[in-house]
Amino acid sequence: MEEEAAHEFDFTLINEYFAGMERQGPGCPEETIRALSFISNLSKESKIADLGCGSGSQTMVLAQNTEGTIAALDLYPGSIDRLNAAAGKLGLHNRVKGIVGSMDSLPFRNDELDLIWSEGAIANIGFEKGLNYWKGFLKTGGYVAVTYESWFTDERPTEIEKWWIDAVPEIGTIGHNILKMQKAGYIPVAAFTLPETCWIDNYFIPQKMHQEEFLKAHEGDKTAEALVSSMRYEEELYSKYKQYYGYVFYIGKKYK
Ligand code: SAH
Repeated sequence: MEEEAAHEFDFTLINEYFAGMERQGPGCPEETIRALSFISNLSKESKIADLGCGSGSQTMVLAQNTEGTIAALDLYPGSIDRLNAAAGKLGLHNRVKGIVGSMDSLPFRNDELDLIWSEGAIANIGFEKGLNYWKGFLKTGGYVAVTYESWFTDERPTEIEKWWIDAVPEIGTIGHNILKMQKAGYIPVAAFTLPETCWIDNYFIPQKMHQEEFLKAHEGDKTAEALVSSMRYEEELYSKYKQYYGYVFYIGKKYK
């Protein structure tokens, strides 16, 4: 049987699956901080948006390593509730505000933002479309920093190529994506690959710990079972083919 890719499942079910986990995509605090180190325009006055923030693991890291205000936006209300509760617990509620909304219809003014952040989420709108649309909300000199699924090589085995083209039809190599960023009107400032630990320790291992619980809560639900087997297949593919793809942080600066 062919496994269905996660994007073919209901949005709410996917978010319920990830509800007990700190992250909803691969990533690490150290890499969020590394990406921030390339960004030089920030102050207390800065306005930052974190798009597709999920429950806000990286939002809190951003807040603890910058001084400005952060609007964190996600389509799933349950994640925004968790994010706002976490911000309150950390005493960050004056600077971090979670908002339910869609990354393709942003509640900001033109030229308002100093920085747009997005980890593991831009594929929902498309890399090219997202970079183009979001640029309008950035000030000149403002930055965008996103992680995005990318090929590491020109060629790869059919099994993994098929999986990713199905999930992210626009997926390209790092060089291709940097060029897209440049064509969208940004100076490419940096690009670096997320280490395997961001996938294994912060994405696959937490899932393993929650899958049985999720299946119990959805006993007899074939769609929930199919979702879990699809996520298990994703992990299997990663361990087999990780030399061919991964998440890459792309950082760009709007120059006019
Ligand atoms: N940044 C988080 C979550 C990544 S998962 C992390 O790295 O852990 C992708 C997130 O994008 C999910 O939380 C999902 O709810 C959100 N999402 C999907 N489509 C969206 C849209 N159109 N607008 C805003 N958020 C969206």
